[in-house]
Amino acid sequence: MSKIIDGRRIAEDLKKKLHKLAQHLEKEKGVKPGLAALRVGEDPASQLYVQMKGLQAKELGYHFEEHVFPSWVPPEDLAAKIQELNESPRIHGMILQLPLPSTLDKFHFLSLIDPSKDVDGLHPLNAGKLFQGLGGGFIPCTPLGCLSLIESVCDQLAGLNATIVGCSLLVGKPMALLLLQKKCTVSIAHSKTQDLPALCRSADILVVAIGKPGFVKGEWIREGAVVIDVGINRLPTGEIIGDVDFKTAQERAGAITPVPGGVGPMTVAFLLRNTLQSAYQHAGQHFPL
Ligand code: NAP
Repeated sequence: MSKIIDGRRIAEDLKKKLHKLAQHLEKEKGVKPGLAALRVGEDPASQLYVQMKGLQAKELGYHFEEHVFPSWVPPEDLAAKIQELNESPRIHGMILQLPLPSTLDKFHFLSLIDPSKDVDGLHPLNAGKLFQGLGGGFIPCTPLGCLSLIESVCDQLAGLNATIVGCSLLVGKPMALLLLQKKCTVSIAHSKTQDLPALCRSADILVVAIGKPGFVKGEWIREGAVVIDVGINRLPTGEIIGDVDFKTAQERAGAITPVPGGVGPMTVAFLLRNTLQSAYQHAGQHFPL
């Protein structure tokens, strides 16, 4: 049986450190970290995610504000709000909750966010810094959280084979780049990949982010591999499960993340980490994490 990687505990440990650092910044510089979320439309999952982010931000003593727009919002109104938040001294981190309605071009709106407040790391400048292997930019929170979970069970990543299933802007692509920086040999799979089971079996580290419940089977997993399941899928019964068939995978993996309680809490914790980093940087302070 594999080790279950407890994302909730690791995220709580990180948030305790963030709480202390946020208090320190407020005491020393009078700066309260500020996070703003922009949400367009009434997607229930997006509502829930933003609510969770807000609650946890407030628990750590951050200022949090949510700006909600109807799905028919005129593009210039959304752009004007982004500009207002770019200029607001209270706000250090801004997120545009995805997905946007199909009438709005996410790349256009992401590119309007001040890169120094782009705590989701999706502005082309931050994505480009990650691509070039330059430090100093923001890296998307989910892959950062996944890397931290992998490192919690794996001392030495260099030379390991990593397979990333899914190549989205938010998860798969930045995850592949982060593992490449760690000198893993990285394969990226997508919907047209041939013989996915064989590619998964070649992996010492398998990260799955496709949004298909229980898609990756236990027999696709190499004995002893580290398996990170990013998927969040709600079944008609209301149960939340990942993209990996947890029961069969657990019998072969060396370590595996559960859903819920694996990657999800880490995504929020790293969003709060990036926001605090931004607040430190805007205050001209060294961020120690
Ligand atoms: P996405 O943008 O829809 O991308 C899905 C990716 O999966 C695409 O690259 C797609 O390939 C690939 N794919 C689809 N079917 C496949 C198949 N049969 N075989 C191989 N690859 C396949 O999704 P996302 O935003 O990355 O999210 C993925 C999942 O992670 C969702 O369940 C989402 O809810 C979850 N998620 C969780 C967190 C968290 O904090 N835990 C954060 C973000 C996302 P193509 O490019 O070829 O279409």
